[in-house]
Amino acid sequence: MNDLSRRGGERPLRVTVLGATGSIGLSTLDVVARHPQRYEVFALTGHSRVLDLHGLCLRHRPRYAVVGDARAAADLQGRLREDGLATQVLVGEEGLIEVAGHSDVDVVMAAIVGAAGLRPTLAAVNASKRVLLANKEALVMSGALFMQALRDSSATLLPIDSEHNAIFQCLPGDYSRGLSVVGVRRILLTASGGPFREMPLSELAGVSPAQACAHPNWSMGRKISVDSASMMNKGLELIEACWLFDARPEQVEVVIHPQSVIHSMVDYVDGSVLAQLGNPDMRTPIAHALAWPERVDSGVSPLDLLQIGRLDFQAPDDRRFPCLRLARAAAQAGGTAPAILNAANEIAVEAFLAERIRFTQIADMIEHVLESLPSASVGCLDDVFDADDRARRQARHWLERI
Ligand code: NDP
Ligand code: MG
Repeated sequence: MNDLSRRGGERPLRVTVLGATGSIGLSTLDVVARHPQRYEVFALTGHSRVLDLHGLCLRHRPRYAVVGDARAAADLQGRLREDGLATQVLVGEEGLIEVAGHSDVDVVMAAIVGAAGLRPTLAAVNASKRVLLANKEALVMSGALFMQALRDSSATLLPIDSEHNAIFQCLPGDYSRGLSVVGVRRILLTASGGPFREMPLSELAGVSPAQACAHPNWSMGRKISVDSASMMNKGLELIEACWLFDARPEQVEVVIHPQSVIHSMVDYVDGSVLAQLGNPDMRTPIAHALAWPERVDSGVSPLDLLQIGRLDFQAPDDRRFPCLRLARAAAQAGGTAPAILNAANEIAVEAFLAERIRFTQIADMIEHVLESLPSASVGCLDDVFDADDRARRQARHWLERI
């Protein structure tokens, strides 16, 4: 592991934020800006929100900015020149890979949503950076290859997903020796249950994208908000936990905890259960991963347990949350199944947000795609992208027929 602990008199660490215009990206920049002696922004990337990216460049003065297409890049480059900034604008996946693996970068926040983040995140791993992983889809798609790339490099991977960051904090430093070796019985992955936890089942088919995106505790991007409502987010997190902590799917139990105060727990063989608690604000895991093994202020207000008063727990209901069952089955099947699940889910969420399918059809579509495309073994990244591509085509085909 590369040691990025801060000692007096050192230069600030240079940070690339992949997905800077998104929810995690903005929270990262908020934490970074609180510690100018420790961190400076090296590169910022966006995709469709180019005006937002322009504003972020003015504020953080990065060496590079990356956007999705050449026209947007030329436009942004022109504006930045007029502003007197030397920021160089790069384009597309090539640009993302360049700023993720650049020799002058120390830390990469991987916060692009979906499969689009996989190659840039892997570039950061291959270049042995400290990689802060928010882009869970990358790990879900290519877990075995991703973890192998990590072992082959001297990169440090720190989980940003609040649950995995909590588990990381509750595990001993030598957990990579094996969960059973260090006395872990189970990982308890907490879930809020999302906005539809208590809605009558008969009403689920009629919910709107706006209702699905109105998460009771967290403010997030639209895709992950829908995933939280369907609990596919928890399913993806189950797969993520298996890869990050070398756990079997049956060692990861999902517990609904509506207050989102306990971010996850580790249950040890001696009966001890360690939990990490905090207000639901992503700046906590971001600050933890940026500064690890030190601690820095994140701007998050202290937890007021007296005001919270009580912490509740319940089991997830399979009928309400079929996506969780599908994800667990994909985790057990292994091979290309998680990549197929993820791709079908991306298309399903897009279709739901565009009001082309009902909320309850998200699971129907994913189940259909998983049944049509049996899992195959993964030998290289092309196998993953091939499965991703086939699953997207199968999902679009299903869409055309309904
Ligand atoms: P947002 O939708 O808010 O942001 C996504 C970011 O990815 C934006 O910067 C967006 O650019 C960029 N992006 C989208 N598509 C592409 C593409 N094809 N190529 C390059 N960049 C692209 O998402 P979140 O910040 O909520 O989530 C980011 C990741 O973090 C997801 O994987 C999510 O699962 C994970 N995560 C998020 C949490 C949260 O609290 N938000 C919690 C835990 C994990 P633009 O907006 O300019 O189009
Ligand atoms: Mg999470």
